[in-house]
Amino acid sequence: MQRKLTFLCNTDSVDQSAEAMPQPAPQAQNARQKFENRISDEGRFAAYARGRVGHFAARQVLTLLGALILWVLVSPQIGLLALALALLGEAVDCLTLWVLIKRRSFGRGARIVSTGTAAVQALSIAACVWIGWHATAGPEARFFAVAYLCGAIINASLVFPYNRRATEARLVIYILVIAVLFALDGLQGRGGRGQLVFDSLATLLLLYMAYSFVSFVLRSYTKRIKMEREMLEGQERLDRSYQTLRAREREARHLAMVAANANDSVIVTDRAGHIEYVNASFTRVTGYTVEEALGRTPAELLNGPNTDTEAIEAILNARRTHEPVRLELINRTKFGKDIWVETNITPMMDSDGNVVGEVAIERDITQAKQREQELAAAKTAAEEGARAKAQFLAMISHEIRTPLNGIIGMSDVMLSGPLDPEHRGNLQTILASGEGLLTIINDILDLSKLEAGKMEIDQLPFDLRAELQAALDLVRPLANEKGLSLSVDVSGLPEGRILGDPGRVRQVFLNLMGNAIKFTRAGAVSLRAAVDTGAAPPRVTLAVQDTGIGIPADRLDQIFDAFAQADSATTRDFGGTGLGLAISRQLTQQMGGDITVTSVPGKGSCFTMEFVTGLDVMQPVEVSPRICADDEADLPASLRLLIADDNRTNRLLLAKLLSPLKDGMRFAKDGVEAVEAFAADVPDLILMDMSMPRCDGLEATRRIRALEASRCTNAPVPIIALTANAFASDRERCLAAGMDGFLTKPIRRNDLLRTIARATRDSAIAPDNAAQPPPRHSAAV
Ligand code: ADP
Repeated sequence: MQRKLTFLCNTDSVDQSAEAMPQPAPQAQNARQKFENRISDEGRFAAYARGRVGHFAARQVLTLLGALILWVLVSPQIGLLALALALLGEAVDCLTLWVLIKRRSFGRGARIVSTGTAAVQALSIAACVWIGWHATAGPEARFFAVAYLCGAIINASLVFPYNRRATEARLVIYILVIAVLFALDGLQGRGGRGQLVFDSLATLLLLYMAYSFVSFVLRSYTKRIKMEREMLEGQERLDRSYQTLRAREREARHLAMVAANANDSVIVTDRAGHIEYVNASFTRVTGYTVEEALGRTPAELLNGPNTDTEAIEAILNARRTHEPVRLELINRTKFGKDIWVETNITPMMDSDGNVVGEVAIERDITQAKQREQELAAAKTAAEEGARAKAQFLAMISHEIRTPLNGIIGMSDVMLSGPLDPEHRGNLQTILASGEGLLTIINDILDLSKLEAGKMEIDQLPFDLRAELQAALDLVRPLANEKGLSLSVDVSGLPEGRILGDPGRVRQVFLNLMGNAIKFTRAGAVSLRAAVDTGAAPPRVTLAVQDTGIGIPADRLDQIFDAFAQADSATTRDFGGTGLGLAISRQLTQQMGGDITVTSVPGKGSCFTMEFVTGLDVMQPVEVSPRICADDEADLPASLRLLIADDNRTNRLLLAKLLSPLKDGMRFAKDGVEAVEAFAADVPDLILMDMSMPRCDGLEATRRIRALEASRCTNAPVPIIALTANAFASDRERCLAAGMDGFLTKPIRRNDLLRTIARATRDSAIAPDNAAQPPPRHSAAV
């Protein structure tokens, strides 16, 4: 029985896939829950208790009948006694159950109590049977006992599925009482041997009857529960299917709504590519009505002469491979207008994975495309503008440098000769003004390069101490002139070279040093240089301190802006353009550092330049004595020079600058003349202007190198570019054409003599003033 009962709580039969399915509706879930509660131990016991209490009256029919029989068979007193006993037993049982119901107490303890009260109730019935048995000795007593107990057994068995222990207690008592009564009869020898056999058989029959009836009740109950469970499960399945159906229907409705109201065109085609559905946006964008579209292919309707064939090919390819595809292409509307669309085509599959059609979602991107094209045009225009600006600057720079070459060069020439003091002073003013103008041009070129992001910072090994020393040599005369003391502390610099851009470091340092001297009327300017080798990468710090006019706190930030000065009187009192610090800061930032400033008005300022570097400790420092141009200015009188320049002033200037070589100089007015002059008589050195009519300096150089190659010349003639083009790219073009050096105009006498002297001494000429930009404060040199 225990085994059979276990199915009641068996959850194996519950559909395990239910989790993956939609949850049944709450009603179905409630019903299921109620059912599970009902068939639980507590649920069944509750039903038992309620049934016993509820059917109390009906059960008393049997009690009354028994009492009546005893009344008639024995005596009214015995009948009443039996009735009282039976009612007492029932009362104990039912009252207990009633209390348990009231307390809603259906747990294990309650069940044990109910087993006890069931036993009490069964004992009261047993007592009635015992009394009837002994009150009359006739066969009717036997009949009464068996019949009465049969009724009680049936009654007890009916509730077996609900309270097994109570039923078992009752059945044991009923069977025992009859067995004991029969046994006692047998012992007393009543009825003889035949009676004993008969009694034994009757007891067994009763036992069998009890067993069969309990089995029958249990089977019926089990069957009913099983059916009920199946019914509930069926209900749940139905419920789930219904929910799924509802969800799908809702989804389909939403999708239909989305498709119908989408801003994008939606096109659904069948397996053969014919349109089955289009939404309202399709009509709005393409002009084709639903009726016009149905049954046609999208290609028939929308491809035009401007539709990209590659895009069509990509769509066909995706269709062949059943892949989704997303691309942009031109569609032609019903009214012949070309529009740009972004299309997303996805194959639709049935449950077996067979393609049943396609869905295409198309977005009109004509406006976005137009904007894209406008933006591209604007970008091209901006780039064009930047290029034009750069060209303009290069051109202006070139054009200004050419006359400056005359002004500065001629001043140089005249200053090197005898002059009375007044003329010398005037000439020095002309020279200083020319060089001031040159500084401005250089600054503007630098600024435009920095702003265009075209400024390149070299990473070369160089000796920072030597570089600083050279720069200090340039500014020392100025400091001396103003009576300022110049102190230098480079003890924090390592022995050996560092990596960086020596020209740009010198440019920034000279700017800071030049400013410090310029804005200090009395006192001192000091430099402290150090490298923090502990930092990774190492950092160089150059701190330039002065005891000058200082800068108000509210101007400290602005002075780094282009064309900004601390106050409007600065230009009047000290000169300058306000470009130097803007350029210096940007250059330093490109070197991975920055310039910072602290200042106290009236007391002085400290500008600190910090930049990252690498250490080139592997290579020993090359001890290259600084060339003093005047030391090397003695050119061999026999030197034969070929000078190619289309500008008369430049030719005149060069003739004057190189007057000691007068007889050895030949001039060419353009590249063609230069090549002819070279072919006629190979000179010791050529000074070659870059821009010349007929054939420019680059082409002339290439032809000369070609001639040398055809003549198998062992020592090619050194060619030095003389040019007003100051860009590094110009220098590279010159070197690529076969030149050996590069001098930018305006040409300074010392630079020129030094370069020629080195070139003639050493055929491998190192360009001199080209590697580094001219110093901004060269006027002070
Ligand atoms: P410039 O010197 O040509 O005016 P800069 O950009 O080099 O341009 O400097 C901008 C301004 O910063 C200067 O005009 C000056 O007002 C202020 N300044 C720079 N250095 C110093 C300094 N050492 N002492 C005081 N003021 C300075």
